[in-house]
Amino acid sequence: MLILGAGINGAAVARELALNRVSVCLVETADVASGTTAYSSRLIHGGLRYLEYRELDLVRESLTERTRLLRLAPQFVRPLRMYIPSAGRWGGMWRVLRNFLGRGDVSAATRPAAPRGALLVRIGLWLYDRYARDPSLPRHTSHRVGQPGTIAVDPRRYRWLSAYYDAQVMYPERLTLAMLEDARRSSHEHGIAFDVLTYHRTELRGEQVEVFDQRGGSEPVLTFQPAAIINATGAWVDETLRRLHVDSRRLIGGIKGSHLLTHSAKLRAALGGDALYVEAPDGRPVFMLPLGDAVLIGTTDIAYEADPAEAVASDEEIDYLIETAGRVLPQAKLNRDDISLHYCGVRPLPHTGGAKRPGAITRRHWLDRNENCPIPLFSVIGGKITTARSLAEETAATVLDAIGRPVRGNTREQVFAGGEDYPASEVEVRRVCEQLATTTGFDLEQVERVWQLLGTRSRNVLAELSAGDRRCIADTVLPCSLARWMIRHEWARTLGDLVERRLMLLYDQRLKTIGLRQLAEVLVEAGALRSEEVEAELAAYQRRLKEHFGRELTS
Ligand SMILES: Cc1cc2nc3c(=O)[nH]c(=O)nc-3n(C[C@H](O)[C@H](O)[C@H](O)COP(=O)(O)OP(=O)(O)OC[C@H]3O[C@@H](n4cnc5c(N)ncnc54)[C@H](O)[C@@H]3O)c2cc1C
Repeated sequence: MLILGAGINGAAVARELALNRVSVCLVETADVASGTTAYSSRLIHGGLRYLEYRELDLVRESLTERTRLLRLAPQFVRPLRMYIPSAGRWGGMWRVLRNFLGRGDVSAATRPAAPRGALLVRIGLWLYDRYARDPSLPRHTSHRVGQPGTIAVDPRRYRWLSAYYDAQVMYPERLTLAMLEDARRSSHEHGIAFDVLTYHRTELRGEQVEVFDQRGGSEPVLTFQPAAIINATGAWVDETLRRLHVDSRRLIGGIKGSHLLTHSAKLRAALGGDALYVEAPDGRPVFMLPLGDAVLIGTTDIAYEADPAEAVASDEEIDYLIETAGRVLPQAKLNRDDISLHYCGVRPLPHTGGAKRPGAITRRHWLDRNENCPIPLFSVIGGKITTARSLAEETAATVLDAIGRPVRGNTREQVFAGGEDYPASEVEVRRVCEQLATTTGFDLEQVERVWQLLGTRSRNVLAELSAGDRRCIADTVLPCSLARWMIRHEWARTLGDLVERRLMLLYDQRLKTIGLRQLAEVLVEAGALRSEEVEAELAAYQRRLKEHFGRELTS
């Protein structure tokens, strides 16, 4: 089977197929999880808002997957308490009714929006609790603004607070890599092939597929005839079909969404480890989410037609998010100087030809079978981080059926790599990390940081690394040897791969230019970069950090 695209959906499909003893070749034009998967709000959620659009099945499916991810991927997915502030009790009824009846069309966006009142929020949360049926998470509660133990939102603007639980995945990039590790293990166990080719492109010649290394060579590195092709290229689905020279109607209508990351201590303190789900003046939902020692604020919803890889948060989006945060928590006095970085991703939503407001377009997923290709070809439309596993299960069943192969199993109970033998509580995690620090000789802070990236796999990886060079990437707590390990085991080939999607240093304020240079040297040692290319690579990568994320490294 050929899978195109190593975002969360492509990786989840690879995992599901490998478990079904199907050999997989996964081809990615850039890096694993370098598309939309890296730029989400990082919530594992049922999607409270979808209730308003009558997407009841989607909410139910998402909540089931949330429960499953909390259990099977505890190293990455954690419960998160969310607060929704409301100004009044009754507001928003008509708007919600209109949306529920499917009348929330484009023209509705031009009318002023009445904020949703506390009563409406409570009805939604009551339904949400009923659908979730998750005994591991507390049910929703209601509070008056100012009640001790709740978030101190602006009392001049809000009177009520509703609290409920969802979940958060700090690094969807690492969850994607864990899925690929699972696929690798299953393939190994069943003695079948599993290849991940990043920075490669595919051409279709009749029933043959040719795979080329994007970094050079006019000859294909691989030629084969797949039983089927799964186009899991997200916001690039139409472009991928065009490049394969396969006729298709337009499938995707990209909607971009931006986030800010701030290390503002005042904002962090105001949230106190909980999250806020607020309504912006235009009625859009905006999240303020704790993320490690920072706060993530997002998002926007803007139709987007250009290359998704080029999407960047605009000044207007940044101002909109800062202003929305300021309306709710004015005491944090958030301003532009507080912003550590921003990012922007394009949602791979179904094409509606502009008939619907971005917020009203369904977040459901489905498969489109293309009849114009000599090989069975399926494209994935839509999908969320939350539902990647269930999407993969459905995809595998459909594709296996199309090629006359049986479904042998599914991943409903498969623990994600690094979640095996997971300690039962945070206290236990700390105890295990302390033990690991003693046995491997790494500092506790180092062990805990590696644990965030690898979960229980840290045991073997740190034991392996403890025998060698213990130097850290300058000013950070991560050992350089971990970067070497990630190049060997996790397909990392560039500075961006290491910083943004393996070591997650993009979000670490301690990363400096000297650390970046050390990583470039590690890439040289590994043969992924030539020494004469180092200066140009460093300059190009710092340019990307500035232009793409608004982040400037100090020396
Ligand atoms: C602003 C925003 C907020 C979001 N928040 C949430 C959230 O909180 N919770 C949630 O569950 N979901 C959320 N989502 C949705 C979720 O992030 C996406 O739906 C999901 O990441 C899509 O994954 P994917 O694998 O389909 O696409 P991608 O991650 O984009 O992966 C597609 C991959 O295909 C590659 N590719 C492109 N062309 C080719 C080709 N020709 N051949 C091979 N590879 C190719 C790309 O490089 C890319 O790596 C959010 C999305 C956005 C934009």
